[in-house]
Amino acid sequence: MKAEIIAVGSELLTPYRLDTNSLFLTDQLNRLGISVIHKAVVGDGPDEMRSSFEHALGRADVIVSCGGLGPTDDDRTRQTVAELLGRKLLQNEDVRRKLEERFRRFGRAMPEINLRQALVIEGADVLRNPRGTAPGQWIEARGHILILLPGVPQEMRALMETEVAPRLAKLGNRRRLYTRDLRIVGLFESEVEQRVRPLYGQYPDTETTILAGANGIQLHPRIWSDDPAYAEKRLGELVSRMALALGENLISTCGEEIEEIVARTLTENHATIAVAESCTGGLLAERLTSISGSSAYFLGGVVCYSNAMKTELVGVPAELIEATGAVSSEVARALAEGIRKRTGAALGVGITGIAGPTGGTVEKPVGLVHIGVADVRGTSERAWRFPGDRERIRLFAVQNALDSVRRHFLFPPAPKPHQE
Ligand code: AMP
Ligand code: MG
Repeated sequence: MKAEIIAVGSELLTPYRLDTNSLFLTDQLNRLGISVIHKAVVGDGPDEMRSSFEHALGRADVIVSCGGLGPTDDDRTRQTVAELLGRKLLQNEDVRRKLEERFRRFGRAMPEINLRQALVIEGADVLRNPRGTAPGQWIEARGHILILLPGVPQEMRALMETEVAPRLAKLGNRRRLYTRDLRIVGLFESEVEQRVRPLYGQYPDTETTILAGANGIQLHPRIWSDDPAYAEKRLGELVSRMALALGENLISTCGEEIEEIVARTLTENHATIAVAESCTGGLLAERLTSISGSSAYFLGGVVCYSNAMKTELVGVPAELIEATGAVSSEVARALAEGIRKRTGAALGVGITGIAGPTGGTVEKPVGLVHIGVADVRGTSERAWRFPGDRERIRLFAVQNALDSVRRHFLFPPAPKPHQE
């Protein structure tokens, strides 16, 4: 079964409001084995709305609209769909009584215009709205199902879950969507694509979407099937072959964020961590502490932005900063080692870089970030050149600092000749 979602509302065509209802609706429909083949956002104008519904009737089995069921003149979904289907709009006594009751409960007289919300398309089932005044409507017409829902997100969600989903489930569709959520760090989108693309042809019954962002790459392989065992087997095979192609860059096959993996790694290794951050201004500490239970491994962090603070708070020698500049491998190492010493943590992380947009030079351009990780066995350090604006550079830096910690456990540095 194929569905189309129509979000109705002129405010959704302005820069100030985004149609988010369709994300929730898509998830709900997918869970019921119904794929969404098209989405539309349309204003309150009857002509445009009518044409949206007409197009949807030409290609979808199920059409779900949201919005335009309010009491005011610009709420025209009922009227437009009734006209399109050649059906009458009828006052529904039951709905009218419930509306009046609702107003009475709040100690108000019902304005005349709210009567429009008791208008129900001929032959429609009324979907009771416990959270608001506008009921939804379920209409079967010309071999299609049309579902009209209110636009207010809480009302739309409640109606979808309590009224619509159970009815759609009764249609007996056994087809379901099965997905996996792979998380990848340390590779660009095109590199990920190049590594996994050869697999697509071998699994033509699956479809994989790729999402890129400063927090890494996500691969979502999906398969529609009415046989759960087959779907799980196919996806399982595909994911293990993707895992081979992605190697240690694949950090999760079940949608875990890198901070969760770092948290688990630190906990399993009974290791504590402390951070000294310059260009990320505390973002790394924020990510590490976003996990509940982080007090078990996170000792603390220092935001040492000025050179003096790097020296005073973390013990980076002033002469070193003088000699190499604040953004250097040496200072990143000294930050990692210094914060480790001062806090007694098992691991110290140091970040120094140029987030821009100003402050870059030919030798040290905007986006250059050094990340050091120190433990009892030694210190590893890596320089990065991140693309994008200030915000993206800082996010990339934090993501890769977290990955450096993960890698520190995967590939420990060679032990020093003289152990501490
Ligand atoms: P309506 O039912 O058309 O009167 O919509 C009521 C309110 O719900 C609007 O003012 C929006 O703030 C919100 N809304 C309507 N449609 C959507 C949508 N598709 N996504 C998110 N919010 C919406
Ligand atoms: Mg509206």
